[in-house]
Amino acid sequence: MTTLTPPELAAALERLPRFPLAATPTPLEELPRLAGELNVPRLLVKRDDLTGLAFGGNKVRMLEYFVGDALAQGCDVFVGGGGAAQSNHARLCAAAARRAGLDPVIVMRTGTESAGDATGNRLVTELLGAEIRWLDKDPEMRDRFAASTFMDELAAELEAAGRRPYVLYSSVHALGIAAYLWCALELAAQLDALGIEKATVVATSEGSVTAALLLGARLLGRDWQVRGVSCRPFAEDDAERLPHQLTELAEQAAELIGVKGPLTAADFDLVDEGAPAYGTASEETWHVISQCARTDALLLDPVYTGKGMTGLVRMIRTGQVPDGRTPVFVHTGGLPALFARRGTR
Ligand SMILES: *Cc1c(COP(=O)(O)O)cnc(C)c1O
Repeated sequence: MTTLTPPELAAALERLPRFPLAATPTPLEELPRLAGELNVPRLLVKRDDLTGLAFGGNKVRMLEYFVGDALAQGCDVFVGGGGAAQSNHARLCAAAARRAGLDPVIVMRTGTESAGDATGNRLVTELLGAEIRWLDKDPEMRDRFAASTFMDELAAELEAAGRRPYVLYSSVHALGIAAYLWCALELAAQLDALGIEKATVVATSEGSVTAALLLGARLLGRDWQVRGVSCRPFAEDDAERLPHQLTELAEQAAELIGVKGPLTAADFDLVDEGAPAYGTASEETWHVISQCARTDALLLDPVYTGKGMTGLVRMIRTGQVPDGRTPVFVHTGGLPALFARRGTR
């Protein structure tokens, strides 16, 4: 398989419609005190929580291309889906739509309008003035497409009213994977600058982030071991189903930039590290969250990033990061969820 040079990959990505939203490149930082506690020479964090827009996160990079696509199609309403009230995706869809002058409509597939306080992500989504529709259809958060039919009906209604809606069923999407190749490009350049050739790259992800990091590593010819840690307990068939779904999406993403998809399902290393439920963190994860805060003042959240870092800490502790590989955690954001809590439980 042919590899691309970084300028070739960047040029291919520049050919797709893009609306600028993200403050990039995001920093690659050292976590020296955490590395010391874990007995590794070095531990790095890619700060994609600092992408800038409305408290940031991984999805800002993806929304540059989703909004770019919406504008290229002449749309005036952005219909995006959220998983639950504390959805980062919902917050960022609403913010990205506002930046581009599109009206945000958010469909939440779990939860109800009255459930709980409007705090954290939900507070921000409401402040952004998004119209929120509640479905209450997927309490276990297993089916990213549980709201798709409803979104189609909503789009038909909007069209009948003379609007031009853009519908994004999920951020797990070929265009989202292509967009997130920018993170791989930046990381490759940042690791080169530090003289690091072999890395173990871990994120909380069972979707676009892992697919893009793997695809990016392969296209750029990098020796990265990539692992995605799930934010929720796997359903029985997930370990089998997700790699196939992502391989197909990564293939479509590769096509978007004019290359042949190089990945197979066997390339994916997606793990369920035993999170009790989607929005809940284990005691071990709360321990890791406070360890990161106390050592290097790195803040993580209990819904997503705390779980991925738990996975990386476990890999280090159990010798799954071989000598000579530098562990890199990709911080995907999600911090507003911290402000939807009282106390560290
Ligand atoms: C959406 C999200 C992820 C995971 O994205 P994938 O599509 O599963 O890769 C990780 N962290 C945060 C904070 C998110 O909002």
